Amino acid sequence: MAQKTYVLCGKLLDVKSGALLEKKTLVVEGDKIIKVFDGYVQPKDRTSKVYNLKNQVVMPGLIDMHVHIENEFNANTRLNGYILNEADIAFNASVFAKITLEAGFTTVRDLGGSGVNVSVKKAINEGKIIGPRVFTAEKSLATTGGHADPTNGSRRSLIGDPGPKEGVVNSVADARKAVRQRYKNGADWIKITATGGVLSVAKSGDNPQFTIEEIKAICQTAKDYGMFVAAHAHGDEGMQRAIIGGVKTIEHGTYMSDATMDLMIQHNAYLVPTITAGKEVEEKAKIKGFYPDIVVPKALAVGPQIQGTFARAYKKGVGIAFGTDAGVFKHGANGKEFAYMVEVGMPAIDAIRSATLTNAMLLQMENKIGQLKEGFLADIIAVDDNPLTNIKTMENVVFVMKAGKVYKKQLSH
Ligand SMILES: [Zn+2]
Repeated sequence: MAQKTYVLCGKLLDVKSGALLEKKTLVVEGDKIIKVFDGYVQPKDRTSKVYNLKNQVVMPGLIDMHVHIENEFNANTRLNGYILNEADIAFNASVFAKITLEAGFTTVRDLGGSGVNVSVKKAINEGKIIGPRVFTAEKSLATTGGHADPTNGSRRSLIGDPGPKEGVVNSVADARKAVRQRYKNGADWIKITATGGVLSVAKSGDNPQFTIEEIKAICQTAKDYGMFVAAHAHGDEGMQRAIIGGVKTIEHGTYMSDATMDLMIQHNAYLVPTITAGKEVEEKAKIKGFYPDIVVPKALAVGPQIQGTFARAYKKGVGIAFGTDAGVFKHGANGKEFAYMVEVGMPAIDAIRSATLTNAMLLQMENKIGQLKEGFLADIIAVDDNPLTNIKTMENVVFVMKAGKVYKKQLSH
């Protein structure tokens, strides 16, 4: 008989109804929840394990729709592109992945790196390293000189001429090839940089960088291969092209107009706010020399806007998908995003729903993750306080189980 695990939950947050249920027992076998009992139920056999979370609030594992699992920004980041080998990136990523899981994020969508992210996903799935379930965009797609052009800001002899294979496109044909290449390389999603960005060594942080025809070609090709498209976007024009072109999520959305918010609702596109990253770049831009000079004015302009745009979009009824841009700030601090969301008017339960129900649906995993139900994967976390009245408790996850295996247990009582 397979070993079972009994999780005794003092309180269990039903994210769907928003109710905080008292005294429940989750029975886990293999990687799934096989039974949810009312009250505390102890196993009858001697082989089953019991976790006592009678003093905790238990909820489904969290999902972050925007992380960069390969790297973590610091003052030396530009140099990393010239000194790190793929093995170095992989070892770094294994550390970031573990920290992310221990923060309660049992699933993440990785939105762009060097391609090592695909290997990270594989190593986690095979149990070789510890980390969240990863969906990855592999390498982001950009136009020449665009936000994710990998050779921006280098001296000319190092720039070369990256093309669709490297994720740089300049035509409809390039766009199709770049998407197919990502599929071949093991991507689960496609990420495009629809406008300029803050941290690239380039002047504009918000100009449109793809034609509508290129975006349509990317979205249509992605659809052929069973993938959705995420678009990094700060400027309004680039955002509109991305939404009309068919992308599923808009990342950051900094200068989003009311008209674009209506367009989002009309096209059923979701905003991934990344408020934490906005706060971080604003703060770090004030430290002299932390970012290259060309980045500083962009960081100071974009950073403070993001939270306000999120508040407007939420009030207007735009779908919100929880995502932080971890890697721009320290991995494991992903939970800070909750308080930033609640601070400007989103009820705590909606913030938690965005990190569970909404993200599970966008990842087409709504029948497997995002809820604590019989038949779902046993992604179970716990916090010490009631998040509906103290959202900051989400920054201190004390228990983490992913697919039936416990990775953190820091119970003080
Ligand atoms: Zn990002």
